[in-house]
Amino acid sequence: MSRFHKLLFLAGQKLRNPSLEKIYRELKETEKWPLEKLEELQWKRFKEMMDYAYHHSSYYKKKWDEAGIHPDEIKSKDDLKKIPVITKQELIQFNREIHTPWKGKKFFSVTSGTTGESLSFWKDEISDSHNRAAIFRGYSWYDVKPWERNGYFWGFNFSPVKKWKTRFLDFLVNRFRLFSYDEKELKKFARKLLSADYLEGYSSSIYQVAKLINEKNLPKPEKLKMVKGTSEKIYPHYHEESMRAFGHKIIGEYGAAESGLIAFECPYGSLHIAMEGVLMEEVDEEIIVTNLMMKSFPVIRYQLGDYIKLKPADFKCSCGMEHPVIEEITGRIGKNIYGKKGIYPSLYFYYVFKNLEKNHGIKLSYQAVQKEKGKLEFYFERQLTTEEEKALKSEMNALFGNDVEYTWSVKEKIFDGRGKFRDFISYLD
Ligand SMILES: [Zn+2]
Repeated sequence: MSRFHKLLFLAGQKLRNPSLEKIYRELKETEKWPLEKLEELQWKRFKEMMDYAYHHSSYYKKKWDEAGIHPDEIKSKDDLKKIPVITKQELIQFNREIHTPWKGKKFFSVTSGTTGESLSFWKDEISDSHNRAAIFRGYSWYDVKPWERNGYFWGFNFSPVKKWKTRFLDFLVNRFRLFSYDEKELKKFARKLLSADYLEGYSSSIYQVAKLINEKNLPKPEKLKMVKGTSEKIYPHYHEESMRAFGHKIIGEYGAAESGLIAFECPYGSLHIAMEGVLMEEVDEEIIVTNLMMKSFPVIRYQLGDYIKLKPADFKCSCGMEHPVIEEITGRIGKNIYGKKGIYPSLYFYYVFKNLEKNHGIKLSYQAVQKEKGKLEFYFERQLTTEEEKALKSEMNALFGNDVEYTWSVKEKIFDGRGKFRDFISYLD
């Protein structure tokens, strides 16, 4: 069976992504390169991309002309900050003018944002192949082949017809998935996991399933080589449940459709920046990213909307790769918490719950909801002890003082599995 899936996979890949194989080989080569050489390659690609965008995208030309900059004047990384950043709003609003007349194979890509507005664009085959190849390179660090048997969960909104169609498509890529958290489904999924080589999905879903497998004492899969969480923050207590249920911590993959893969975690726990395909800057703790591949729809100095923290430049990972490392993706930018008087970034929640863990050893999954200024509702998966309540109060006080009042209650299913988990829902703004 595995041979069948390998042949099927490779045949499909040749048809859909003819450049992937070559790009993959190059990436396996450059992963051994010293940092200096990688930076050279990255800079060369950046310059090419900037040049291409200036001459083929009317939006970038106009934007940079107005800012008084020309690609020839950008000579080193120090000059990057002269180039204005671009936002998701711009990618949506000036979509047509940003596109270039790139000839060649293209795929239509639609991304739905948690904020409602979706971004769509044409992704050229080379950038799509590069993105896939960079992910498969990450798999190779775990001895995982993309055609091997894999479990998958990604949100549950399926009609019966869509379910059958999805099952068939899944069969082709040797995949099975969880369609709901009900016990029968879950047991079936857990049984299938016994023969799986890897597992991927939203980290909150992985956590939820791991917890259920542990609670119900279902048999533990032993063949798994990799458990990969995408798109969301991975909290320390997620790892604990995952270790117990699957024998692996959840490794991180970081990226977005418009940026391409940004980083992939190595077996030594470092989220290495995939710098062959992206140029990432950290500006005031915020990530600014350039996709070095996508000529059909250039994304240059893009404000992705995450706060991040980089490892110090002299950090050396034991895996031997010299690609710089993201220490942590600390939160989403943009949402505000409203106090009675002040306004606070939603990053504050991250600090409250991080400090709760650091200073008091309390690990909590939470969801915060704001409907009114100065008031918050927290939902936790379990009851808090009096001690824990006190600790929460002191950590909330430390950051918000008296400006924010809150209540809390237990909501067992804060992860409903309907797509990306949102740890903060605001009805203000
Ligand atoms: Zn490493």
